[in-house]
Amino acid sequence: MPSVYRAHCSNCKFTRDVLEDYVYVGEDGSITGLPHPEDDALKDIGLTWNGAAVTGRLVKESEMVCDQCGKLNGIKEIVLPAFALLNWVGLTATIIIVPLVFFLFESHLLQLIVGIGGILCVTIVYTLQLRRRVKSRDRVSDDLVCRYCGSEGLIPYPDFENEPDSKLLCSKCGQRTMEPDRDYYALS
Ligand SMILES: [Zn+2]
Ligand SMILES: [Zn+2]
Repeated sequence: MPSVYRAHCSNCKFTRDVLEDYVYVGEDGSITGLPHPEDDALKDIGLTWNGAAVTGRLVKESEMVCDQCGKLNGIKEIVLPAFALLNWVGLTATIIIVPLVFFLFESHLLQLIVGIGGILCVTIVYTLQLRRRVKSRDRVSDDLVCRYCGSEGLIPYPDFENEPDSKLLCSKCGQRTMEPDRDYYALS
């Protein structure tokens, strides 16, 4: 069940849907579509969002706009794990750091600053490391390059919609006169 955005050409009235979808690629290469809300769909196959992201098998399939030629490119990208305090690293850091700062500092302010800072640091460093590992094993993501003109300026469609004067190239009349229907959003 992809998210559907829509654009229409002010020159020839052609309309086009722009899709954004998430899938989970199994170890055997099987592809499970994840209907919205994706968290619930993942729960059905025994995974959480971050649990799936850590495997490098959670994939976003979307259409991105080239900032040079205005054409849409179908792009696959793996989803990287998000920063989460409530994982085992965050909890372990809390268990170790909290008694330590009480032991080391008398000032409550210092306890608070060093405690929270320390827990955040450990979590951030751990997540960056995790993301780097998932990225290094990535065999799924497409290069973020326009396959029509070679530009490296690909913009996710929802961001493109938010830009004033955003215009797509119309595949029917060949003019750069396709405007986003900003009020349109559907799940198909
Ligand atoms: Zn292009
Ligand atoms: Zn047109």
